[in-house]
Amino acid sequence: MFQEPIPNYFFERAAQAVIANLPEQVRSRLNGRLERGLALAIKGAVKPYTDLSQPHQPDLFQVRSSNQFYPPFFYIVDLEESTCECPDFQENGFDFCKHLLASLIVVSVKSELIHFQAD
Ligand SMILES: [Zn+2]
Repeated sequence: MFQEPIPNYFFERAAQAVIANLPEQVRSRLNGRLERGLALAIKGAVKPYTDLSQPHQPDLFQVRSSNQFYPPFFYIVDLEESTCECPDFQENGFDFCKHLLASLIVVSVKSELIHFQAD
């Protein structure tokens, strides 16, 4: 697989693709969440969620919290359900937090890289 760091423009393109798929009323309320999600994706803050006691669930991701001094250090994103554990998602009644967007960006980059290698 791709061993060197993935170039940022892959993430930037993926972020454009993610936002292009969102309804206009969602886009107008993002308030910088896409940029913050993009930064998380570029930093490698998105990892597949691994719970060794469970079968692997490809739709689950753990995204590093921006505050690394206090727990929780990760939020679990479920892309199948389109949910995240973070307060922004849970309390603001808005369905697109930066963790969810970061996970969507990473998934989009991965599928891009698979096509890239198949060519
Ligand atoms: Zn979140």
